[in-house]
Amino acid sequence: MSFDADVIIVGGGLAGLSTAITANREGLSTIVLERGEYSGSKNVSGGRMYTHALLQLFPDALERAPLERPVTKETYEVFCDEGKKITFSFEHKTKNSYTILRAKFDQWLAKEAENEGVLISYSTLVTNARREKDYIVVETNRGELKAPLIVDAGGVTSPVSRFLGIKKLEPKTLMLGVKEILDVKPNLPEDEGEARTIMGLIGNLKGGGFVYTNKDTLSVGVTIKVESLYNSNLPSHEIVERFREALGIEGNILEYSAHLIPYYGYDKLSNLYDRNLIVVGDAAGFLINDGFNIRGMDLAIGSGIVAGKALKKIKEMNDYSKTDIYYEMLKESFVLRDLKTALRSFKVLNEEEIFTKYPKILCNTLSKLFTVTSDGKERPINVLITESKNENVNTTKMLSDIMRLFI
Ligand SMILES: Cc1cc2nc3c(=O)[nH]c(=O)nc-3n(C[C@H](O)[C@H](O)[C@H](O)COP(=O)(O)OP(=O)(O)OC[C@H]3O[C@@H](n4cnc5c(N)ncnc54)[C@H](O)[C@@H]3O)c2cc1C
Repeated sequence: MSFDADVIIVGGGLAGLSTAITANREGLSTIVLERGEYSGSKNVSGGRMYTHALLQLFPDALERAPLERPVTKETYEVFCDEGKKITFSFEHKTKNSYTILRAKFDQWLAKEAENEGVLISYSTLVTNARREKDYIVVETNRGELKAPLIVDAGGVTSPVSRFLGIKKLEPKTLMLGVKEILDVKPNLPEDEGEARTIMGLIGNLKGGGFVYTNKDTLSVGVTIKVESLYNSNLPSHEIVERFREALGIEGNILEYSAHLIPYYGYDKLSNLYDRNLIVVGDAAGFLINDGFNIRGMDLAIGSGIVAGKALKKIKEMNDYSKTDIYYEMLKESFVLRDLKTALRSFKVLNEEEIFTKYPKILCNTLSKLFTVTSDGKERPINVLITESKNENVNTTKMLSDIMRLFI
């Protein structure tokens, strides 16, 4: 049987390109199929990348990659009624994460891959996949291709896994991200950047928002649990507009995009491998939100690197059913380890109250603590208990939920 390549990778985003670069460096012939006219044309991301995985791929990436600004300031803002707001800021000069613009970044990564010998076929939409005895055929708008190893790097909709019938998309495991890029130049020195995480400005919808500073623009967006959109009659572009207006940010909109985000958690990940198939990045559901970090991009790159190395081992064994090697290697990598660590916080962040009632209780409690009247003061814990009761919340459960984010 002759194949079109050792490996066919569906999706030329971060996960697919990282898999391709690694597999190619391991000596495997590799084809990437990307539906967009170029890599990055279909990708959306809030735009803050933790660079450790990228540096595994390109140790000199900080000098060469089109990064925007290092995030040197982290700000959390919780908005409540009546002009109340809790703000927490932390400054650090580490260059651990950078803001990026995906249209620029993914194109750069694709060029690097091509320079190293990876073949990328653009404007190639994979429309179906079927399993033959010991290989997989992918059907595209340009004809069929077959390989003994296929990588599903098609993002949150996991096209290959769905076409093969090993995964279903369910709304409860998805968030919607809506984002604008504005022509507002940040008032910051060149080598500094800010990541703002904002809660309490998207009404009763379950989610939050962000503002990231790029070199000359701002990325402003919201992420919302898809389920909570059922009861909302606001179109997604209006949600982000209202959010931006509430923050008082004005400017011309250079780009608007909306995209789904996987929201499974470590214990609910679907099949990460199958006979002749490996699943990476968003297609595998690799997303971490632990309240402090939102990470999908480093997990996409990290899982791609592991996949590329695993593919080599599988080929050497000449047994293409042995894709569990990928899973075994993944367990040893930061990808599954960090997903496991984040599970507890992930579960807390899935609770309704965290976005609605808890911010209100904390704001009202702080408001009373910072107010002095002739009526006399109550002990802080009593204020907290009263405010919790007003919102029908058990104080002990609330404190334990907040602690679970840290322990
Ligand atoms: C609004 C928003 C904010 C986010 N913020 C952050 C953040 O700040 N930091 C962070 O780390 N992560 C963030 N994420 C998550 C991050 O963007 C993803 O985890 C990451 O892009 C996953 O990369 P990927 O390569 O797996 O998938 P993608 O980037 O989605 O790439 C998949 C590729 O597959 C292609 N494709 C899909 N179907 C087919 C098909 N049938 N045929 C051919 N090609 C196909 C697509 O065109 C695309 O290029 C955010 C996501 C969103 C939506």
